Amino acid sequence: MIAGALLIGTFFSPDANAGASVQAPKPMVLVMLGPPGSGKGTQATMLKEKLGLPHISTGDLLRDNVKRGTTLGGQAKTFMESGRLVPDQLILDMLFERVAQSDCQKGYILDGFPRTLAQAEALQSRLKEKAQIKVINLELADKIIIERLTKRIVCETCGIPYHLVSAPPQKSGVCDKCQGKLVQRSDDTVEVISRRLKVYHEQTSPLIAYYKKLKLLQSVPCEQSKEQIFAKIQDIL
Ligand code: AMP
Repeated sequence: MIAGALLIGTFFSPDANAGASVQAPKPMVLVMLGPPGSGKGTQATMLKEKLGLPHISTGDLLRDNVKRGTTLGGQAKTFMESGRLVPDQLILDMLFERVAQSDCQKGYILDGFPRTLAQAEALQSRLKEKAQIKVINLELADKIIIERLTKRIVCETCGIPYHLVSAPPQKSGVCDKCQGKLVQRSDDTVEVISRRLKVYHEQTSPLIAYYKKLKLLQSVPCEQSKEQIFAKIQDIL
């Protein structure tokens, strides 16, 4: 049995029909919560491989729309460039359309969503009892975040992040995984990062209390290596 199957097995819940020999698996929805730069994307990428579930990053979906010049991309661009949140309704329409696709039937990993209470409530009301939700809250101090993000480069093609000092690519400027071009995100400047952190503390951090109350939240300190953090997340799951 592959390790991913072991992990997914922990999310199986008893069928309402007691006594039935087969247990119905509920789709697993993993929410990666945490400030920008806490490693949500990195951990979600690792979890995707382990669990065999799609990694859905609202930031990546938006950047793809901007790149393709869609109406949504045009509406989102100025918010993103200034470090502000894109309006809830645009995000909800985009996200719910994505998770309705067939690859999400067994569950998915959310990265960068929800970011507001309205988004979290919309997700809860959509999923209701139909899915098992787990929320992993990655904790990291603002000082470390600024250091991380100003030295972050990401693959233009697959979105995988690198760090110029602590996790550089094997070949400068080239993605190890897909050979795509590595670039600095236009919102990874000190000025925009400060705005994104302010927005996080004002609008997203209240979700910690929200999910705590629902008893869905597990917090993981993120000063360690990505492998150590990943091991902790696997213990939680
Ligand atoms: P990220 O790649 O997650 O850091 O997101 C980059 C930018 O996309 C954010 O600074 C926001 O402008 C926008 N964005 C991504 N996800 C959301 C969301 N769930 N709600 C609102 N705006 C978002």
